[in-house]
Amino acid sequence: MKFSILTLFPEFFNCLIDYSIVGRAIKESIIELETVNIREFSENKHGQVDDYPYGGGPGMVMQVGPIYRSIESVRNDNSKVIYLSPKGKVLNQKKLIELSRENHLILLNGHYEGIDNRVVENYIDEEISIGDYVLTGAEIPSMVLIDGITRLIPGVLSSEESYSIESHYSGLLEYPQYTRPQRFNGLEVPEILLSGNHEKIRQYRIFQSIKLTLENRPDLIDKSKLTDIEKEYLKYLESERG
Ligand code: SAM
Repeated sequence: MKFSILTLFPEFFNCLIDYSIVGRAIKESIIELETVNIREFSENKHGQVDDYPYGGGPGMVMQVGPIYRSIESVRNDNSKVIYLSPKGKVLNQKKLIELSRENHLILLNGHYEGIDNRVVENYIDEEISIGDYVLTGAEIPSMVLIDGITRLIPGVLSSEESYSIESHYSGLLEYPQYTRPQRFNGLEVPEILLSGNHEKIRQYRIFQSIKLTLENRPDLIDKSKLTDIEKEYLKYLESERG
């Protein structure tokens, strides 16, 4: 998988190179990261890439020309061009899984008040938001995307189990985890996890997973996708809540 990042701030991405799992995936050539400075595609002698919005309004808008040329400098037949933007569809685990199967992602990073909409209408494949809030630029959203995708690429994590049991993968939140020490400030680890009874531990975790999802993210629960035991636990928890 190759990521081509179109940005006004390429240095932002240096931290990814040394950073844990993403850094290792780069060193092992599982992923490739290239940054392209959009400013290099300015035709203005001062390297300007933004201008006032037509129709008036605050701030500056990134121009179509430099963005178009920067996309074309890296695009090939297998590329998918993504514009990170608060106006896009909100990112979720399903989208990350889908994107992890691509060969080449071009991540267009906006700044200022955003970009000329002719880019959105004509030169990108998808517009993705990382959440319902506005950041100053798309560099952090791009890193979110790169991190979330990289850990799903075969060979990056030690086994598929590492992510397949995690929150959002199965549609539910992951069960709570504990590690040593067994007792801290009088706080105990749930006894069942020390029992060595694998079947009981499995059931306990399913129950906790349903309970946590019901408490924090009931919107995620799709009854048609639950297993029989999950449905049973859900019914019990709902009846307890009244
Ligand atoms: N004026 C724009 C609006 O109201 O939708 C916001 C522009 S924002 C200050 C500048 C850039 O940051 C955007 O063009 C986009 O690339 C990026 N950005 C900001 N928030 C984002 C989010 N939630 N998800 C993805 N990218 C975001």
